[in-house]
Parts: sequence; structure tokens; C-alpha cells
Amino acid sequence: MKYNYIDSSNENGINFIDEPLINSLINENIEEDPILCREIFAKSRQKQPLNLQDTAALISIKSPELLNELFETARELKRDIYGKRIVLFAPLYVGNYCVNDCTYCGFRRSARGTIRKTLTKEELVEEIYHLEDLGHKRLILVFGESPKYTPEFIAECVRICYSTKKGNGEIRRVNINAAPLDIEGYKTVKAAGIGTFQVFQETYHRATYAKYHPANDIKGNYMWRLNAMDRAFKGGIDDMGIGVLFGLYDWRFDLLSLVAHSLHLQNRYGVGPHTISFPRIQPAQDMTLPLPYRVSDENFKKLVAILRLAVPYTGLIMTARESKEIRDEVMEFGVSQIDAGTRLEIGGYQKEGKEQELNKEQFKVGDTRDLDDVIRWLLEREFIPSFCTSCYRVGRTGEHFMEYAIPGFIKKFCTPNAMLTLAEYLEDYASDATKAAGYALIEKNLETITDIEQKQKIVAKLEAIKTGKRDLLF
Ligand code: SAM
Ligand code: SF4
Repeated sequence: MKYNYIDSSNENGINFIDEPLINSLINENIEEDPILCREIFAKSRQKQPLNLQDTAALISIKSPELLNELFETARELKRDIYGKRIVLFAPLYVGNYCVNDCTYCGFRRSARGTIRKTLTKEELVEEIYHLEDLGHKRLILVFGESPKYTPEFIAECVRICYSTKKGNGEIRRVNINAAPLDIEGYKTVKAAGIGTFQVFQETYHRATYAKYHPANDIKGNYMWRLNAMDRAFKGGIDDMGIGVLFGLYDWRFDLLSLVAHSLHLQNRYGVGPHTISFPRIQPAQDMTLPLPYRVSDENFKKLVAILRLAVPYTGLIMTARESKEIRDEVMEFGVSQIDAGTRLEIGGYQKEGKEQELNKEQFKVGDTRDLDDVIRWLLEREFIPSFCTSCYRVGRTGEHFMEYAIPGFIKKFCTPNAMLTLAEYLEDYASDATKAAGYALIEKNLETITDIEQKQKIVAKLEAIKTGKRDLLF
């Protein structure tokens, strides 16, 4: 079938999800075609983004040999494009009031057992102090949808994050996961210096979307949400995060839709999404949903690997919804960012103990390890934990980021910045075991640098960090 990319505008917005096309691609690609798949692997190795037809062909893979080749190609791409670093962040839940009734969510309006709270300014500052004391530098602020959480309120929370500093602790990048805004709203939050603005479509399949999101709710408006990133771009935000809540509908449809969404943003605005998230649905307060489309671990691994091939330059985020075991396996297929030491309760970072109380939280967390444990685990696997915020702070975002995300960029910026931010962590916050493992890995990586001048610059900055200098970046 001839591939036609449909991206139509009308008074209801821009619809770039062509359901009949996506369904036909799924149906035409039931049997795997090894020759075609290997051609696509070769295309991917050249770091060319895939179209929907290519992506559908990869979805058909079933045989163990071809599946291994898919995983190996994903591993290679991750190494080539992102190097060995994994960027770390923490979610900070600001408030769980919500006017919507998404049936899978512990914050939904009808979840009577849920205890509602919005952090006061003082409580927010206290949360930030606690996160800084752990060593975090990058946060994502999370909000329910409520008239309380206006763009001005969100912008104020962002400003508080940046201005709250303790010791060597500071927050250098604040991302947002909140309800989609109008263009003016995006301008307001942009002015506060946000990083990525994330909105997950949950499912791109309209009938299923309608099933989980009551029509009269704000979130019930599929097109308003579908065009969230178009408005963000028009509001001056070129750093956009998209995602799907996997488990609501057929993962193959939603995976192809994520690729269609990326192509749409790239084609129309010249900037693809900065990140894609692929949360799988977790148990939540009062949640008793039949979930016929739950994604198995096998299909989850496969979908992450396919995404890595399809959108080589888009960051992939795997959250602590997933268990340590799954993170262990999936990490190397292309994940570039993870959260660590995650607490979902509003005010949860100030709390002793980490037992979850689901009536105060959005869903159940799969990986409950502390930040230091996650860092040591990454080091053992020879990943370089990174708190780097350099690109965004020196203006390498959006289109520029895409231009820079080319061979050489990793060696010049990302790996050195990962080592420097890791060294800051090791000096200020790490346990003895993590500190020893961290410096051992830094040394090992330094040995692989062949550009003598570059190596000297990095070593000089590392030494400066040991003498107390901070925030040195390339
Ligand atoms: N309230 C805003 C909205 O809906 O756009 C902000 C997002 S919400 C606080 C963050 C994300 O959590 C949602 O977009 C959804 O994908 C995810 N989520 C909700 N319930 C979940 C569950 N039970 N398990 C896993 N993820 C869930
Ligand atoms: Fe992303 Fe900046 Fe790290 Fe580059 S240096 S990968 S843009 S955080």
C-alpha cells in the first residue's frame, strides 16, 4: 500500500492520526518480512528516522533471531547517539486536585478515597531542599488539572524551584507534566524558564480515549489534547514531551501513533519531540478496571526498541513505574532518562520511610530504590549517571538540539558533562561505595578519550570540582 501522510487542519484543529491508515498498516504487517526488516535495520544504523510503514514492518517481528537483531540495533543506536550516559531526574508532585475523571488515575475526581493536597509555598521549598540534599538537579513538576493550577501558579512553582538553593544544591532544570494549556498559558510558563512541557495523549485511539475520559470533562476533548504540542510550539516552547499510557489500547496502534505525532511535529515545525514517555498502567487508588490491552514485558521491550529505531534523536524516558528488573533489561534498548528515588505523595520527599499510601498518590511505583542505590546500580552496569542540563542552559534546545545531535556531539558535550555532574554528585552527596565506584568509572572513561586537548580540559574541570567549584559545563 502507498504510504500517505495525512496531516489535515480544520476548525477543530490539526488531525495527524489517520486511524484507517494505521489500522491497515497493522493488518498488512502481521507476518514478519526478514528481508525488509533487515533493510530497515540498515536504514536505522544510518540514523535515519523511520516512517510509519517501516515502523509497522518492525512491529511484525516475532522470530527470536530477528528480535535479537532488533534489540542489537537498538543497543547500537543508543550507544552511538547517547553514549553511555543516563540522565536522572525526580518527579515533584505539587498538587492532586483534579476536575477530570480519567478512570485509570488515583487523582480522578470520583476517587473518593484520595486525600487531596496542594503544596504551600513553604512546603514546596521544603520538598526542594530535600531533593537537593539527595543530589537532584533536574525535576519534573506534576499537577492534576484544576482551576488552582493556572499557568501563573505553575510558573511561580518553577521560579521557586530555581531560586531555592541549599549548600551546593540547586535545581538547574524544571520540566512540567500538567494539563495542556492554551497558547498564552504556554507563553507564561515558558517565561519562567521551563525545560520540557510534557503532555501524554494516553491513547491516540479515539473510541478508547472516549471510554476512559468522560466526554464532558476538559480532558474528554481529544483534539484539545492532541494539539497540545502544536499550541506549545506556537507559545514559544520548542522542547516538547509526548507519551502514551500503555495498557489502554493495542500497543501497536499507539506506538505507530507516537511515530505519527513525532513526524507531524518534525514536518510542521521543524522540531521533533524532545522526549517520548511510555508509562505502563499501574494499580491506583480505587482502580478496578478491566484492562484487556495490558502490555506484556516481552512486547514492552519490543516497543521500546522499535521506538529507539524509529525516532533516533528523541530522548526516551522510562519511569519508576517499572520494576528494577524491567529497567535492568530495557535500559540498554535506548532509554536515555530515568527518574530515581521517586516519591509520588504530595510532600513525600519530606516523609520518613517510603511505604506508599495509595490514597495520597497517583499510582503504585515499581522501583522504590533511593537515588544513591540507582546511581551505584548504573555505575555497576557502566552507564554514566548524568545530571547534565547544559544544552538547555546554553541554548542548545529544539531545532538547535536537533542540529547538534550529530556524531561528535556526544564526545564533545554529553559524556564530559555527564562526568562533571557525576563528580559533583560524588563529592557532595554519594555514599562511600558509590563515590569509589563513580570515580573508578570516570577514570575508565577518561582513558578512552583520544583527543588530548579535550581530555586535559575535562581533567582540569574534574580537579576544580574536587576543590569545591560547581556547575562547570561544556
Ligand atoms: N493531570 C495532567 C494530565 O492529565 O495531563 C498531568 C498528568 S498526570 C498527573 C501524569 C500522567 O500519569 C498521566 O498523563 C498518565 O499518563 C499517567 N498515569 C495516570 N494514571 C496512571 C496509572 N494508574 N498508572 C500509570 N500511569 C498513570
Ligand atoms: Fe541533553 Fe544537554 Fe545532555 Fe545534550 S548535554 S544530552 S542536550 S542534557
